[in-house]
Amino acid sequence: MRIRKLELQGFKSFPDRTVFHFARGISVVVGPNGCGKSNVVDAVKWCLGEQSARSLRGKAMEDVIFAGSEGRGPSGLAEVTLGFEAGDEPFPGEYARFPEIQVTRRLFRGGRAEYLINQQRVRLRDVQDLFLDSGAGNRLYSFIEQGRIGEIVRARPEERRTLVEEAAGIGRYKARRAEAERKLASTLDNLGRLEDVAEEMARRLKELGRQVGRAVRHKLLKARLRQAEVFVGMASYAALVADRRALAERLREAERAGRRPGRRRRPCRRRPPPVAAGP
Ligand code: ATP
Repeated sequence: MRIRKLELQGFKSFPDRTVFHFARGISVVVGPNGCGKSNVVDAVKWCLGEQSARSLRGKAMEDVIFAGSEGRGPSGLAEVTLGFEAGDEPFPGEYARFPEIQVTRRLFRGGRAEYLINQQRVRLRDVQDLFLDSGAGNRLYSFIEQGRIGEIVRARPEERRTLVEEAAGIGRYKARRAEAERKLASTLDNLGRLEDVAEEMARRLKELGRQVGRAVRHKLLKARLRQAEVFVGMASYAALVADRRALAERLREAERAGRRPGRRRRPCRRRPPPVAAGP
């Protein structure tokens, strides 16, 4: 991947559309102090997704928009487009089929920001992913600004290690590893929560098991009670039928005994003969 051209409009000291064509080999931007040479590097960094206004030598991100000059009013937006050609290796992912791509970043006064790849709106993340390990990422070794060489020489071993790692192109893997570790931590978190839920469920299941046992026992005992009640009812009925039969027998006995001969009858009370009336 190689930068082929840089197009600026409304960016810092470039109010008009300005195009830099970078031929193969070394390109040099020459000019007197303060003419805007570092603004060219800022434009490249900004287009690649730089998020720190300080690193672009401003206080707020809006400082990258042309602020106006004596004879000219301020711009309403800053726009920078970088044109890349694929070179020896194709572009990564879905852009592999393109021989060239254009990356554009826009910032309007008021804060609206846009990123585009080949004129299609994309997220900042898509731009960052595209350049991961290409050596062109906004934080990578390909930008060595004024004073940076001294910084590198003075850097502590671990800082220098980061630089070497970036240059060796393992940034993508480190980023993936960090992402995987984040996902792993979040999965472990979820797992912990699931274990809590499973424990609670096991407790409730045990309690429900106890309740089911009690319900089954209750049903069984109720059925037995019903059976016993039927038996008792049948037994009482049978006893009552037997009593009735015995009583009926006794009644018949008593009636038979009352009709037997020789048994003194009660004298029947006769009416006295009528007294004859006189002649
Ligand atoms: P040096 O040689 O000192 O490093 P340089 O050539 O790299 O300087 P820069 O620092 O890139 O120059 O540019 C500084 C110039 O850009 C200043 O004149 C400054 O006024 C101008 N500038 C920066 N931001 C803006 C802006 N938002 N609007 C207009 N002009 C701007």
